[in-house]
Amino acid sequence: MAQDRFGRQIHYLRISLTDHCNLRCLYCMPEQMIFRPNHEMLQDQELLLLVRIFADLGFDKIRLTGGEPTIRANIVELVRSIAATPGIEKLTMTTNGVLLGKLAAPLKAAGLQRVNISLDTLNPQHFRTLTRWGTFEQVWEGIRAAESAGLIPIKINTVVVRGYNDMDVVDLARLTLEHPWQVRFIEMMPFGGVTELQQSHVVSMTEVLARIESALGSLEVANDGKLDGEARLFRVPGAAGEIGFISSVTAPFCAACTRARLTADGKLRLCLLRPKEVDLLAPLRQGANLEELKKLILDGVWNKPWGHGLAQGEIATNRTMSEIGG
Ligand code: SAM
Ligand code: SF4
Repeated sequence: MAQDRFGRQIHYLRISLTDHCNLRCLYCMPEQMIFRPNHEMLQDQELLLLVRIFADLGFDKIRLTGGEPTIRANIVELVRSIAATPGIEKLTMTTNGVLLGKLAAPLKAAGLQRVNISLDTLNPQHFRTLTRWGTFEQVWEGIRAAESAGLIPIKINTVVVRGYNDMDVVDLARLTLEHPWQVRFIEMMPFGGVTELQQSHVVSMTEVLARIESALGSLEVANDGKLDGEARLFRVPGAAGEIGFISSVTAPFCAACTRARLTADGKLRLCLLRPKEVDLLAPLRQGANLEELKKLILDGVWNKPWGHGLAQGEIATNRTMSEIGG
């Protein structure tokens, strides 16, 4: 299994299938985002070869993300091939949900197990402002389609942005009273080309928790206090679902990190918030053999940075979240 020099076992790969997106969330990318040409991106067979290599190295969990993974051509076939790769035990996706109305059932049939769906507010106007191009109803329909297709348990990702949706967190938390969903509030992180908004509008998870508790009463600790991925879980007593808090900025979880990322242009990125990357696509196209590619991955993982440097004011500005794969 791939291990870093701090003894962390790295076995969870997040793959950005494309840097393109059908939305333009304020905190993720500028409206006039410029994308790289397709020939610089991992093509299907290149991606599947790398997945097999990662699986050989002990990576057993894959999350497909982006950009928006559902807009990648051949997404259902790609999911089918990745799900069938020996060694891959968990296959999930993070999506904005816009296309799940029609894709949830075929994705489930192809072997996708679960989805995290991003939804920042239940207020259609606030939703439009935050995503610039999206409509709330489409995403709501996507959530229901995912649930009907069995892509469960549903997890909802909410990035909290002061002045845009911090007033909506209680309504989102209320969803868990009746739905067996996990609604996860995320601290906005600064990187890429939109750091000004990200830094000036961040809301701490302590503040979100206080806001929810003042409306719904004290929350109880869920999941025996253990982290679920990066989320600390709570529950309104008696509720069907759970409320998660992902405090990457104010209380990072780097010590427990098991992740590496593969960008859409074939770079192994060792930490979301550090610019260090290892190019896998160029060597692959230049004819590197499997052993050489494995060595590049193992060496990269070994040198994975300990953690991000937000507390020291260090911001990785070389890429936006959508290029790295959030
Ligand atoms: N397009 C898909 C989506 O929105 O779910 C997948 C890619 S998106 C980059 C992955 C996750 O990153 C989403 O939940 C999104 O809300 C989150 N995200 C984007 N920009 C962020 C930021 N600056 N800080 C924290 N989370 C962010
Ligand atoms: Fe697209 Fe997801 Fe970024 Fe929003 S957060 S712009 S949906 S990639």
